[in-house]
Amino acid sequence: MFRSIALFLVAFFVLSAPASAAGTRYDIKAEIEPPAGTISVQGDIDTVAAGPQLRFALHRTFEITKLTVNGKKAGFSYESTGPFPNARFVTVTLPEGAAGKPVRLSIAYHGALEKIPEWGAAPDQKFGMDDQINPKLVYLAVYSFWYPVLGPYGETFETNLEVSLPEGWTAVSGGDLHDLGTANGRTIRRWSVKKNFDIALSASASYRRIATNDVELYYVQMPEPVVRAEAKNLSDVMTLFRDKLGATVAPGGVVRHVYAPLRYGQGRAGIARPGLIITSEGRVLDAMAADPRYTLFQDVAHEIAHFWWNFGSGQGDWINEAFAEYFSALAVRELVSEAEFNSALERYRKGVAGLPKDAPSLATVPKDGNYMIWTVRYQKGSLMLDAVRQAMGDKAFFAAARDFFQTYKNRNIDTAEFRTFWGARLGEKKAMLNGWLDNGGGLSSP
Ligand SMILES: [Zn+2]
Repeated sequence: MFRSIALFLVAFFVLSAPASAAGTRYDIKAEIEPPAGTISVQGDIDTVAAGPQLRFALHRTFEITKLTVNGKKAGFSYESTGPFPNARFVTVTLPEGAAGKPVRLSIAYHGALEKIPEWGAAPDQKFGMDDQINPKLVYLAVYSFWYPVLGPYGETFETNLEVSLPEGWTAVSGGDLHDLGTANGRTIRRWSVKKNFDIALSASASYRRIATNDVELYYVQMPEPVVRAEAKNLSDVMTLFRDKLGATVAPGGVVRHVYAPLRYGQGRAGIARPGLIITSEGRVLDAMAADPRYTLFQDVAHEIAHFWWNFGSGQGDWINEAFAEYFSALAVRELVSEAEFNSALERYRKGVAGLPKDAPSLATVPKDGNYMIWTVRYQKGSLMLDAVRQAMGDKAFFAAARDFFQTYKNRNIDTAEFRTFWGARLGEKKAMLNGWLDNGGGLSSP
């Protein structure tokens, strides 16, 4: 559930016709010096370039000191362009005949991040950024352009990340973790993710950790009892989804939720990546001060639900969001209360009722766009699934949801497969499904 910055990223790459990230593998090592605010990175990127050049975006203050293609020195040029003030494009000239074939880009670069205020730090802010490298916090993600971003955002690739930090720092990323220990005053950790869509990282010398079998929480100032209760809640969510849908492969087998010591930053649950959620601790503490009942339970349950719901592809990406959102509401129903579940549905109904007449249908809604698109994908999608559950009854609905997941979990599917599968399960009631899928506008039922 990661919106504002993702939209910028899509615009960035649509405007610039970049290389594709599909089939790409990153193997990068970062050495980070928080006191100095600097980072140096070296690594290999295996990818396929469509044309005679390879183009990527990189943090504009970073200086490339080495660049080879297939082991041979390659020419490259910088351009400064695009809506992001912190990035510039790098165009690499490939060897003759390399277009369409696998290439290995080996690169080394270093620098300090542009200093840009956190999101929401000022009321009239034009541009915000949560990335940081300083003595208090390291926080890096795709919008930092701290690794060569091939784009567009949302395409998946394999990542292998190794991070070296001063001893005493705790670094957190998503995926399979290999702790390489501490030597010469440096702590080194490595993570790998087969199907990633970002290389996000947070580190602090002050992180405290509370963990269960399948959940790890990192925080600095959050009250310990709150974090302890959350660890139990999130474990219960994992158990609930596993019971309903069957086992899934969560990267690294755990979800890591990090309360990064930001003062402002992106709201609610922040950013979610495979196996990793990074939230602004300052915003949560503010919200808890204003309302002691404030909780990110449903937001985080939504991200956990994506460990199962991640096989909708292209236009069919709404399937991931509708199921993740609706299952987060079902987690509220099972683990919090029926009343809270009903208020979540009420929120969706209000959102959908406010859609304009020309809002697209679920069957045509694009993957990216504005608040209206988001309302169709998440809220109208959830209301449709709720209507399906009511039509089938809980028992048949959960059995079908399990089969749906088990049938398609290793494929990419679109609206057509959704319609066929759920239409068959609904039998003579299947006309309702077409109404939900094909009617645009603000109708909350066909
Ligand atoms: Zn989501």
